[in-house]
Amino acid sequence: CGIIGILGSHEVSPQLVDALRRLEYRGYDSAGVATVDAQGRLDRRRAVGKLVNLSDRLVHDPLPGHIGIGHTRWATHGAATEVNAHPHQSGPVAVVHNGIIENFRELREELAGLGIQPQSQTDTETVALWTAHHMAQGASPLEAARKTLARLKGAFALAFIFDGQHDLMIAARKGSPLAIGHGEGEMFLGSDAVALAPFTDRITYLEDGDHAILTRAGVQIFDAAGNQTHRTEARIDTGA
Ligand code: GLU
Repeated sequence: CGIIGILGSHEVSPQLVDALRRLEYRGYDSAGVATVDAQGRLDRRRAVGKLVNLSDRLVHDPLPGHIGIGHTRWATHGAATEVNAHPHQSGPVAVVHNGIIENFRELREELAGLGIQPQSQTDTETVALWTAHHMAQGASPLEAARKTLARLKGAFALAFIFDGQHDLMIAARKGSPLAIGHGEGEMFLGSDAVALAPFTDRITYLEDGDHAILTRAGVQIFDAAGNQTHRTEARIDTGA
C-alpha cells in the first residue's frame, strides 16, 4: 500500500519507519523493511499490525545499512501474516509492491514447473522468485528485474534491492503512482511525495510503464518501450 526507498548516507532503518508513518493515512495491516549493510548483506524485518510492532522489533534486532526499502501492506492476496508481509525476499533480491499482479497464478505455476516453491500466499512473492531465478541463470540484477517486469500483468509500483549492491535500487510503475526524490548524494523513492517530504522537495514522478535505476549519483528512467527518457523534476510543496 505504501512504498519507501532510500539510498542514504547513514543508517536508513529509522528513516524508513518514519517515512512509513507518513503513509499510515492510507491504511495497512502489516509492515516491513529490508536493507543492504556495509558488508553487502541483504536482510529484512517484518511485523503484523501497527508500525510500533516493526519499530519494537528493530530495537531488539536492528537492521544496519545505508540503503533500504520499506512497505506498509494492505493485503489483497494472502492473509495479514508476517510471512505474507513485504519485503518479499528470494535469494539475492528483496521486493516491495503496491497493487496486484493479476497473472500471479500463471507465474507461480511456471515456477512450480522449475521446482521453485513460494513461502507466502501473495501475488508479490512471484516477482522476487522470478527475479532471483533469472539471477541464478546468470542475469545481472537489472537484466533479471527487466525480464520479470516484462511478464507482469496488473497494476503495480515496485522497488527492488539486491544482495551485494549497496548503491542500486530498481523501481517500476504501472497503474500505481511512484515518485523519485532527489537529494544531495542521496536518492529516495516513495509512493507519494508526502512520504518524501522530510528528505527532499525535488520530485520526479514516474509515468505509467516506466522503470528506473537509482544510485546515489542520480536516476536513469526508461519508458515502456525500454528507451531511456527524461521526466521533469519539480519542486513539490508538501507543506511538511
Ligand atoms: N497485492 C500485494 C499483497 O497482497 C500488495 C498489496 C498492497 O498494495 O499493499 O501483498
